[in-house]
Amino acid sequence: NADTALHRAKELGRNNYQFYSPDMNAKTMRQLGMEAELRKAIERNDLCLHYQPQFEIETGQVVGIEALVRWNHPERGMIPPEDFISLAEETGLIVSIGNWVLSRACAQNRALQDAGLSPLRMAVNLSPRQFNQRDLPEQVAKILRVTGLEPCWLELEITESIIMQDLETTIDQMVRLMELGVRISIDDFGTGYSSLSYLKRFPIQTLKIDRSFVRDIGSDSDDTAIVAAVIALAHNLKLEVVAEGVETQDQLNFLKSRGCDLAQGFLFSRPISAEALLELLLSQAAGPALKNRTRLAN
Ligand code: C2E
Ligand code: MG
Ligand code: MG
Ligand code: MG
Repeated sequence: NADTALHRAKELGRNNYQFYSPDMNAKTMRQLGMEAELRKAIERNDLCLHYQPQFEIETGQVVGIEALVRWNHPERGMIPPEDFISLAEETGLIVSIGNWVLSRACAQNRALQDAGLSPLRMAVNLSPRQFNQRDLPEQVAKILRVTGLEPCWLELEITESIIMQDLETTIDQMVRLMELGVRISIDDFGTGYSSLSYLKRFPIQTLKIDRSFVRDIGSDSDDTAIVAAVIALAHNLKLEVVAEGVETQDQLNFLKSRGCDLAQGFLFSRPISAEALLELLLSQAAGPALKNRTRLAN
């Protein structure tokens, strides 16, 4: 009726007004300030990478690493990616940040091999904007050439949001990356809206189960069922499956019982510095992986 309509219009009006409120200006100003700071951070080399190991559940061996960016702010300390990646995405700064992350991660991985460790896969997160850069495959190829890392030791993580775009363009870009010999994985799987028929068409190798499902294994029967279903789905599609955010032994036991391939999470290790990663890998190499190491040296 008319009364409600008028009421709605007023509500809308109020909301519109709010859009231009001083609060909003303050927010815009803060964002502009942060954008300028982020630009400076890139120039001053204030970004850094932490590395989180990925373990093979069957053997307990580290087989992969995920590179995770941080902003080491001179006054505010370590800023997590959640606080600046979306701004970087909106402003386009993500392209230079992303290239820096790729170079750094590949160089680091190559350095680990040069130190005599068994080769590991390095996973790097790509944002949608970065994935959509037409020349991304050329950039990746160049970085692999410069760092001397073999393509098979690089895995690019993309999220389902990329899949919501034009399907043919997305597949074309994936194929161009695949032709370089790098691996592609779908990160945070289950949180987006990708259709299963898409999944079948993508040249991908890995599915990463989002940690929101892993968190509630055992306590929420729906989430437990989702995790079990994703593992089965991945294996039916001949994909490898990684569980993210594994924090407890119970979660690990469940994942193991369902044949999940890899696990990543605080139970094994938080994301750590390059130095701490090297230490962890060396202590593992002194154990069962020593054979590989001697083989490498010969
Ligand atoms: P992601 O790619 O899904 O990375 C996993 C996140 O889960 C990391 O947060 C990691 O620290 C956290 N995590 C790992 N194990 C556990 C666990 O057992 N429990 C809990 N509660 N959390 C765990 P981080 O490093 O804060 O990164 C957050 C997100 O930021 C990443 O999610 C990724 O989407 C994005 N990101 C990080 N680095 C980059 C980057 O270089 N480029 C882009 N485009 N995005 C990045
Ligand atoms: Mg990731
Ligand atoms: Mg994830
Ligand atoms: Mg995430």
